[in-house]
Amino acid sequence: MTLSRRDFLAAVAAVPLVGRRDAHAAGSRPRVAVVGAGAFGGWTALQLHHLGAKVVLVDSWGPGNARSSSGGKTRVIRAIYGPDRIYVEMVKRAFELWEQIAAATGVTLYVETGALWMHRADDAYVRSSLPILRDLGFAVDPLTIAEAARRYPQIDFGGVTSVWFERKAGALLSRRACIAVRDAFEKAGGRYRTAHVKPGPIANGAMSALRLDDGSKIEADVFVFACGPWLGQLFPDVVGSRIRPTRQEVFYFGTPPRSDRYQAGHLPIWIDFGKHIVYGIPGVDGRWLKVADDTRGELFDPTTGSRTPTKEGMARARQFLAERFPELAKAPLLAGEVCQYENSPDGNLIIDRHPHAKNVWLLGGGSGHGFKLAPTVGEMAAQAIVSGKEVPKLFHLDRLRDVFKPATQFEMKKKG
Ligand SMILES: Cc1cc2nc3c(=O)[nH]c(=O)nc-3n(C[C@H](O)[C@H](O)[C@H](O)COP(=O)(O)OP(=O)(O)OC[C@H]3O[C@@H](n4cnc5c(N)ncnc54)[C@H](O)[C@@H]3O)c2cc1C
Repeated sequence: MTLSRRDFLAAVAAVPLVGRRDAHAAGSRPRVAVVGAGAFGGWTALQLHHLGAKVVLVDSWGPGNARSSSGGKTRVIRAIYGPDRIYVEMVKRAFELWEQIAAATGVTLYVETGALWMHRADDAYVRSSLPILRDLGFAVDPLTIAEAARRYPQIDFGGVTSVWFERKAGALLSRRACIAVRDAFEKAGGRYRTAHVKPGPIANGAMSALRLDDGSKIEADVFVFACGPWLGQLFPDVVGSRIRPTRQEVFYFGTPPRSDRYQAGHLPIWIDFGKHIVYGIPGVDGRWLKVADDTRGELFDPTTGSRTPTKEGMARARQFLAERFPELAKAPLLAGEVCQYENSPDGNLIIDRHPHAKNVWLLGGGSGHGFKLAPTVGEMAAQAIVSGKEVPKLFHLDRLRDVFKPATQFEMKKKG
């Protein structure tokens, strides 16, 4: 579908935008600049292009770079989302879009493993999701501890009181996926640039142009900032500390030689709800087992923060491994990564217009669970920008006016 720029601009906003008259006169396609080629920005740029916009995508260091929240090897995609139907619906749509792009690019972006949910106490998070999952066609099987132990002899189920197996879940190859989305965007005719961007001045309710580090400018009708953990720094007045980047460590342990027991197809993704939520991914792109603690770490600067994992973090991961995967108690550490969550105060996403600039959109707040949702986030944002389709209120910025205590997405669900 190719939208005329005139139709596009008419749909974008009720208020006049700076430079609109010139844009109308040009009579060409509407211009959108998307800043940030992580999961959110890449997908938004691609979807905007599909909807007929002329899009430039800009990133300081490139799609899925090592500083970004979308960097690293893998991310979990699962549909269990407590009582929040909206996220289950978004995951359902995201699965379709991830599958479409994998088919279109011929790149493996998803490995299905299923997800094993282990609880040492309350399993309300899973149970509250079951009716929604049934309704939307996601199968989840309850397993007795004995059944689970028979199926997965690699795991010691000590302390576990309930186990659920989610069939359609798996690992997305995160960095590879960001690059594939950028490549698909360029192949379709979109323009990608590596450059560091400063938001342009806002006057009369609109932003006029982006300023780049080489002194040049990007003019556009609409500006989208999908800057993950940097969003608060770029917009201190309207986002600021509503995005808190926290330091998160991830470890990859080597599996025994000639053994498939820890590879996808033999071991699912697992999520262990104990005092901390610890989760892991079987080998999908190498002979390792990924282990990560979902507990929010210290505040972290995504540009300058040290990416060397701590001895303490490594020791905690090893202790967990010894307890849950006894055969791997002495497994060698193959790699460690430091990434950052970009937490919103309530763990929910941000997809909204800038409150003082009608032609600026702010996307972020993935809060440790956003990657899987990125195709749907991109679709929602693009449809909102192009056709004015309403974004769910849950993702509006003004919900955060009165929320002060930061919470994780899992904690919010428990409260709900
Ligand atoms: C360790 C870890 C594990 C996670 N696990 C999961 C999981 O299992 N499942 C899941 O669904 N989600 C998970 N997440 C969350 C998910 O990865 C993030 O929510 C998601 O990747 C955020 O994407 P984004 O595009 O918003 O941000 P980013 O990926 O950070 O992208 C922002 C981009 O903006 C660019 N940028 C910033 N400022 C500028 C500027 N001024 N000019 C130009 N470019 C700029 C950056 O270079 C960057 O590429 C995890 C996150 C981490 C850190």
